[in-house]
Amino acid sequence: MGNKKKQMFDLEKSLKFAEGSAFEDFSTKLLAWYKKQKASHPWRLLWEEHKDPYHVWVSEIMLQQTVIKAVTPLYVEFIKKFPTVFDLAKAKEEDLRAAVKGLGYYSRFDRLHRAAKDLCAKKDFFEWPQTFVEWKKLPGVGDYTASAISSIAFNEVKAVVDGNVERVFSRLFEIYEPINSAPMKKSLQQLGGSLICQKNPGDYNQAIMELGQTHCSKNNPSCKSCPVSFSCISFKKNTQNSLPNILKREEKVDVDLYLFVIQKKNKFFLSKREGATPFLKNRPGFFLLRDLEKKPLKKEICGVYKHTITKHNIKVYVVLGSEEMIKREKGVWVEAKKLHDALMTSLDLKALKVLWELKIKLPWALNKSLVILSEAKDLPKTQNGDLSLRSR
Ligand code: SF4
Repeated sequence: MGNKKKQMFDLEKSLKFAEGSAFEDFSTKLLAWYKKQKASHPWRLLWEEHKDPYHVWVSEIMLQQTVIKAVTPLYVEFIKKFPTVFDLAKAKEEDLRAAVKGLGYYSRFDRLHRAAKDLCAKKDFFEWPQTFVEWKKLPGVGDYTASAISSIAFNEVKAVVDGNVERVFSRLFEIYEPINSAPMKKSLQQLGGSLICQKNPGDYNQAIMELGQTHCSKNNPSCKSCPVSFSCISFKKNTQNSLPNILKREEKVDVDLYLFVIQKKNKFFLSKREGATPFLKNRPGFFLLRDLEKKPLKKEICGVYKHTITKHNIKVYVVLGSEEMIKREKGVWVEAKKLHDALMTSLDLKALKVLWELKIKLPWALNKSLVILSEAKDLPKTQNGDLSLRSR
């Protein structure tokens, strides 16, 4: 690229460009590629077989801020447990929680549940929302999700512009301004609207997102095999590796949390977490405190690990607590053998891992309970340096 002057982004010019000859076969080529190469995600197979908007909706909620790899196995189990919107509406809260354990951002599933109940509340008939505007009225459905569902399930011409699509556009139109600024997001949405295939908007939306995931990756995009390289300015000018330009998000805030493991004979106390800390509110788990008047002594801390929740880098101290601490705390006592099933957040499961790995060095009673836990499976993987244990 050398010292060549970078062009300022001009929406009108880009919209004209998108209507011109360079983009003549854009959606035809993209759709042909998608038809041949598309990934067989379970939600796609289900949609193709049953044409039930429920399958699309659940997948879009699960995929919010979550990678496909993490969603796939849980999605399959979720649909087995709650095969229809009516089953979801009738589901018990704890069963729903167990079904999405480990995915994070749990309030989205509370909203999904509420929306299913609202939809099924009408006694005489059931009707799916169809348009973008109707879907957006449901709890937990924003612009992106409403565009995806209304286009895939109801063929509405509504362009989906997620992070993958933004990256593709930044290269197709050689945009050097940050693509995640609010005004640029609006412009990219307009570009999306001008490129979308009118006949097959659902497949088009899935195709352009998949192109971003597969070919137009963040580093070293595979331009040589890209089905739309003929339209791509960056590819022609060999500037694709300098894009996209992304504004750095706010720095994460460091927070210390103290997680107290409180045991009575063979049971552990799980707090309802109705508001002790702003984290994991209403997500039952070990008793958690953010601010402590008296910090635990070094010898009382049995493990420390790192955890991230949205804008917070959390350092979690696992401490053995006493019943005294929870006099006014709402919660339940759970048998050791049921502890793994009762914990749903990865923050708690990491604490379980600390306990499990420490079993030999813990006090006798706790040690005995942990023998039962020794077969605990599916404990979250911790990266190197993520977790440190203290000998007691
Ligand atoms: Fe992305 Fe390369 Fe395709 Fe352009 S040609 S859209 S940079 S993969």
